[in-house]
Amino acid sequence: MDDSLSSTSLLRNAKRAAHKAMDDHGRRDYDEFALHAGVAVEKLAKAVLVAMNPIYIVEMRGSAEMLFHLGGHLTASKVRTIGASEAITRLRTLKILKVDTKLDLLIEVRNGVAHASGGVQAKGLLSTLAESVDTLLKRLDSSGPEFWERWYSAVLVAIDRHRSEIQRDVEIRIKQARHLFDDRFEGLPETAKEAVLKVHPRDVGFRSTMSPRAADRLLTFSSETPCPACGGLAHLMSTPIGTTGTHTELSAFWLRCRLCDLELDGADQIAASGADVEKAQVPTSIDLSWDVTPHTALEVGPTYMD
Ligand SMILES: [Zn+2]
Repeated sequence: MDDSLSSTSLLRNAKRAAHKAMDDHGRRDYDEFALHAGVAVEKLAKAVLVAMNPIYIVEMRGSAEMLFHLGGHLTASKVRTIGASEAITRLRTLKILKVDTKLDLLIEVRNGVAHASGGVQAKGLLSTLAESVDTLLKRLDSSGPEFWERWYSAVLVAIDRHRSEIQRDVEIRIKQARHLFDDRFEGLPETAKEAVLKVHPRDVGFRSTMSPRAADRLLTFSSETPCPACGGLAHLMSTPIGTTGTHTELSAFWLRCRLCDLELDGADQIAASGADVEKAQVPTSIDLSWDVTPHTALEVGPTYMD
């Protein structure tokens, strides 16, 4: 039979597309992610059908040429097989896949007949990809670790119902950031990575600063803190949430690491990441200057990170 339509070959192509999808997701390119994820599910669905019987991917219309081609008794002049939607429908008829509107959306995006409405919706399809692959792999001679390789732990998090959505999202992004960080040092000696991790943002021009955007109120405070993904020093933005006499209580709301590209937006995400904001290095006193005179005099005492 045609080797490109063998279960092994389809599985190999599914794996390649799934890894591309994970790379896209890590780069926050969610449209490309949905495309590659759809291709991965399609190939894997066909791999399962072919493993059961090669003729299960034959189209039901037209001549019987492809039927004999897949049966191994004739070489078709033009190789045609079912599309992604039909492969999914057949697996549902066989009770291998369940009805799942998110999987339908993924396939529609892959077919170009639908667009996920914005990155957020496409981003959320990661768990659909992970769950579909998990179900289909059980029908093939392959395992999760074999299929996903270094992405396996991120995929396990994506289908873990015991974690909250924020925990899952942040944990996956930390794993993606680690892979991106490792990719940047591929082929370089380990010492190069160690040297970069020792660089303080302040050595390359970054300084802890306060940024009063309104004349009478401090709005943001930037400092550096250990990155929960790569261990280098990340940029942390905080905002005062309360002041008592000599103390200003700060709440971290944005973290960005230039080494691994991890970006966390909001106090919930930062808390879920396990970032040790108490280790944020903040200056003990700050001089402020303005281009224009503030409307109200500002008194600034020592600052603490709570
Ligand atoms: Zn980092």
